[in-house]
Amino acid sequence: MCRQKYDKRRLTRLVHTADAGVVVDPTGKRNGRGAYLCDQPTCWDSLSHKPGILAQALKTNITAEELAAIALHKPA
Ligand SMILES: [Zn+2]
Repeated sequence: MCRQKYDKRRLTRLVHTADAGVVVDPTGKRNGRGAYLCDQPTCWDSLSHKPGILAQALKTNITAEELAAIALHKPA
C-alpha cells in the first residue's frame, strides 16, 4: 500500500474485481476498488508483512494465492 504521490509509471495498481478477486491491473483501467504499490521494495514487502492493510483498503479478504500472484509483479 502506497500513499506516496509518485508518477503513475512507478505505481502498480491492484484492484478488487467482482469476478477474479484481487489482481494486478497493468492497464490501470479495470473496474473495482483499487490500491497502489510503488516501485520501492519496502512497499511490496509490506504486503506480505501486513496484508491486512491492503485488505482493509480494498474492503475484501486477500488469500495467500492472491498475494503470491501479486508478488510475481514486484519490480526487479
Ligand atoms: Zn510505496
